[in-house]
Amino acid sequence: MHLRELDLANTARYRAGGSAPGRLESEGLPVQTQSPRRSGPLNGHDVKRIRPWFWCCAVAAWAALPAFGAPPLPIFDAHLHYNAEAAAAYPVPAVLDILRRNSVRAILVTSTPNEGTRTLLAATSPDLTVIPFVRPYRNDADRATWFRDPETLTLLEAELARGAYRGIGEFHVFGDDAASEVAQRVVDLATARGLYLHAHCDERALERILGHNSAARVIWAHSGFSVPPERLERALERYPALRGELSYRYDMTTSGRLTTAWRRLLLRFPDRFVIGSDTWVNQRWERYDEIIAWYRGWLADLPEDVSKAIAWSNAETLFGAPTTRGAATRSP
Ligand SMILES: [Zn+2]
Repeated sequence: MHLRELDLANTARYRAGGSAPGRLESEGLPVQTQSPRRSGPLNGHDVKRIRPWFWCCAVAAWAALPAFGAPPLPIFDAHLHYNAEAAAAYPVPAVLDILRRNSVRAILVTSTPNEGTRTLLAATSPDLTVIPFVRPYRNDADRATWFRDPETLTLLEAELARGAYRGIGEFHVFGDDAASEVAQRVVDLATARGLYLHAHCDERALERILGHNSAARVIWAHSGFSVPPERLERALERYPALRGELSYRYDMTTSGRLTTAWRRLLLRFPDRFVIGSDTWVNQRWERYDEIIAWYRGWLADLPEDVSKAIAWSNAETLFGAPTTRGAATRSP
């Protein structure tokens, strides 16, 4: 089972448990109720089968280096979580090490609860830019209810008063739940304050968000997760401010190479995509090197200016000049 199959199997497993007690159904990304070390799919058997794929990615990434000794492409990880579970297992120096060895120089970070984001924001590292987003979740259970809970606005107002946040999310919302009064007030709040929305949503919910407020600036987590490239193309045409983030899009590649449909889409919209690790459970932190190697593998299939844009400058452009450590740590 290689990386793509492993994550698809992981997603299917979570979907299957969507209605079980303690799990929340939301496009396959449920509440994590057990330690992934004990319950997750990465048992020894899987690890053995992943290894050849990892080396395949590593070799592709190495081949992507422009010349011997040239520094690797800097990465802007535009979908990183530092949840309580991760903070317990990966202290800040360990996180900084992981990012540094992958040449990740900027992160869009969110967490449940928001303390994790503030912790990373406060971490001093001269070679890392931290872009904090506030999450409308006090705990994992809020994932399924935030859009109908008036307390969401109270939480967001209190966090935003700290001053450094650049967006709201990642939040999960599907179908007409995005038309709820609370969800639409969150959209309006973000738009009024010039904040981005990092939305893990389906096409219907995206329509509800942008139909309600066409000025909303949405980073579409996972680019719709399972939305085929042809329909994604229609969405990018229809909503000029929409940006697509590409974690979990293992349909982009076959044996580590871009499919024709995805290559065509990336070349048509080279300035509309960003990449991210989506470290929503600790398994993703464990596999961080592998995830970034997968990106480097297919980025090498693209012209250099396009790969640089997707790896770094598209995200950098969204947030203006990189936030300096001093500016980023001012408020929370
Ligand atoms: Zn996520």
